[in-house]
Amino acid sequence: MTPAKDIEAGQLCKLQPLVEALLASNRFYGAKLGTAGIDRGPKDLGEFRARVPFTFKAELIDDQSKNPPFGTNLTYAVEEYNRFHQTSGTTGSPMRWLDTPESWNWVVGCWTRIYRSAHIGRQDRVFFPFSFGPFLGFWGAFDAATRMGCLAISGGGMRSTARLRTLLDNQVTVICITPTYAIHLAEVAAEENIDLQAGKVRTLIVAGEPGGSIPATRSHIEQLWPGAQVVDHHGMTEIGPVSYECPRRKGVLHVIEAAYFPEVIDPDTLETVGPGGSGELVLTNLGRVGSPILRYRTGDTVRLAREARCECGSWEMALEGGILGRRDDMVVVRGVNLYPSAVEQVVRSSGGVAEYRVEVYVHRSLTELSIQIEAVTGEDAAALSHRVTAAMHYAFGLRVAVSPVPAGTLPRFETKSKRWNYR
Ligand SMILES: [Zn+2]
Repeated sequence: MTPAKDIEAGQLCKLQPLVEALLASNRFYGAKLGTAGIDRGPKDLGEFRARVPFTFKAELIDDQSKNPPFGTNLTYAVEEYNRFHQTSGTTGSPMRWLDTPESWNWVVGCWTRIYRSAHIGRQDRVFFPFSFGPFLGFWGAFDAATRMGCLAISGGGMRSTARLRTLLDNQVTVICITPTYAIHLAEVAAEENIDLQAGKVRTLIVAGEPGGSIPATRSHIEQLWPGAQVVDHHGMTEIGPVSYECPRRKGVLHVIEAAYFPEVIDPDTLETVGPGGSGELVLTNLGRVGSPILRYRTGDTVRLAREARCECGSWEMALEGGILGRRDDMVVVRGVNLYPSAVEQVVRSSGGVAEYRVEVYVHRSLTELSIQIEAVTGEDAAALSHRVTAAMHYAFGLRVAVSPVPAGTLPRFETKSKRWNYR
């Protein structure tokens, strides 16, 4: 059997009992599968793809609002669950998500895989400069670090300066962080004359935004954190930790196929996309039986690698450039499709940008874009604005208004950034 067939056989082995369990005792999926005429586990992956309907976020939100507080996507009695998380609600109302000890064990297992591919082990000290709110965030990552024997250090309830001191004093080697906050923390270090070079950080695992797979953002972060390399990851509260970065090819994310059944579809025709094609990532988690999702329309646009076997030796699905953007985040300006991540690549590759903010507005019935730029210390802000204007024109053929603003005026973010503003 080829490794690809092996992966598929493993997925089918998990999908069959999963579907059977949901038919027996999950009200949400029992009804959904029943309506589709499904009364047993799939005999192969083709049947699963052809017959099991997609799950949309709106359905889950609607179910929770009609059946508060936790909805009906629970396979067991509510007493069996001991973990509560909540989505950040950036795209719709927040959703509550429960885990059983067994499904949490699966979440932690996914994180273990992510750490191992980043060569993180028990010698590491892992720091979480993160407020540990109710969204899944790095809770799973924290538990996985402790399980692997790393020293896991919480940075909750601290300001940035205290976090910097904590990571230096305790000789932290790995930081789990959003790309935006990695940039901001380094900025605070510079302001406070804290020398990051005196630290031992060798890896920054970034998640929460696509920045880790945007080449210009990655190299900007690596310049700010001397000696550290950026490792990208993505996951979602309602689905789990999904991907790990290819250890050989920067900016390529592999889906953990032992834990997920991933598909990439054309969002308009709903046809499966072949090697080298782009489309929407659709995910089924295989080990979160208590609160599962089948064929979830993530809304994330991805591009598949051409080869089945990656340079790193993995046969797991490879996403070139990581998560390219959310379909609903794309704006069309004079016929040009713009994803925030593509704009970020152009802005950051101009060099010398400390922070930026994008305004999307309608002028005479046309969608327009303007960008405000804050330069790093010592950079000529007017010259930088001209460079960004030229780079936007070169990349997208668009004339965009770029204006410099004084240092420190644009908002900074500890978790996900809100750089795009829609008027
Ligand atoms: Zn690879």
